[in-house]
Amino acid sequence: MSWFSRESANVDSSGEKKIKTEGLWVKCDQCRKILWKKELDATFKVCPHCGKHFRIDAKTRLSQLFDDGQYEVFGCNLISTDPLKFIDLKPYAERLKNARRETGLQDAILNGKGRLNGRTVIISALEYRFIGGSLGAVMGEGLTRAIERALREKAPLIIVSASGGARMMEGCISLMQLAKISAALARLDAERVPYISVLADPTTGGVTASFAMLGDLNIGEPGALIGFAGPRVIEQTIRQKLPEGFQRSEFLLSHGMLDAVVPRLELKPYLSKALKFFCS
Ligand SMILES: [Zn+2]
Repeated sequence: MSWFSRESANVDSSGEKKIKTEGLWVKCDQCRKILWKKELDATFKVCPHCGKHFRIDAKTRLSQLFDDGQYEVFGCNLISTDPLKFIDLKPYAERLKNARRETGLQDAILNGKGRLNGRTVIISALEYRFIGGSLGAVMGEGLTRAIERALREKAPLIIVSASGGARMMEGCISLMQLAKISAALARLDAERVPYISVLADPTTGGVTASFAMLGDLNIGEPGALIGFAGPRVIEQTIRQKLPEGFQRSEFLLSHGMLDAVVPRLELKPYLSKALKFFCS
């Protein structure tokens, strides 16, 4: 005979509460700490423990920079015509369709006009989630429209890059955009309209090789990968081990390739101060 006996054979589980925690927390892949998503949103997606800058999408970027998150979207209604009828693992047309559905954008670019601390500015942000933020004919035209509007309205231009480079599915047509955008920026320069380039993680390939490095100021986000070819390709080519931190913002700053590395929370006041200096 046992000392204790259960009065009822069945365990009553009606009072048990199921609490959904899925999606409320994220793990920082740098310091491994568990972060509350709401807290992370309040810090502009920067880890409060180690300062790791998480990637943010183009819409979030614009709403962080414009006053009250208000801006007018323009020049983003174009879509790629898939001129080469390109197929790799899947057709390019299908990739475009999926990317459009996932991001709600027509291509990897979002142009906005609004105010930054009261000053009218034009900001273009690249969308990394849209086929790696790759530069094709649509982004080329979108950026050119933003530049031409900045030129027309004499409004300073800020481009926030996050891109893997040229879009291989558009072949040489995407490479032509490097020259097209650079030529438009040269006209902006001739008219003395300021252009500030912000390089977020990652900015590589043809984007680094053209407009992202052509700013009157080139500003990197902390820890951002910025380069042309990837580190593995370079190591194999020069047959040397690359130094630590190679192709990160801080490394580029210390080697004179960037003008500043600015934390995301300080970016807006920094841009405002820089534009005040340029426009006075
Ligand atoms: Zn962290």
